[in-house]
Amino acid sequence: MTLWFLRGLRRGVVTTRYPARPDGSAADLPTPPVFRADALDSELADRLVAMCPSHALRRDADMLVFDVGACTACGRCQEAGGSAAAPSGEFELAATSREHLVKRIPLSREAPR
Ligand code: SF4
Repeated sequence: MTLWFLRGLRRGVVTTRYPARPDGSAADLPTPPVFRADALDSELADRLVAMCPSHALRRDADMLVFDVGACTACGRCQEAGGSAAAPSGEFELAATSREHLVKRIPLSREAPR
């Protein structure tokens, strides 16, 4: 312990300047997806819901409901979703209200009945 303390004094601050300054390594972090409504239909939405390991996705009638707060950014939906899902690039997800993290995405590619 003393050795680490002395080493710290000798070398100075060795952590990054985040959050005062952006950290370059953040570009390599996995991030939750964004969904394109015009590429989503109920069939694809159901497949994405079924494969989400953290239950961050569910379908509510003609909406895909995405709970960003439950998403672990595993990337499964992005691999299977084709053009409908892409990395958001956003990992700073603090919110003042839990509801602000729940997104409702219309299934706009739905075939007319
Ligand atoms: S990235 Fe993973 S955890 Fe997040 S919504 Fe997609 S499948 Fe679910």
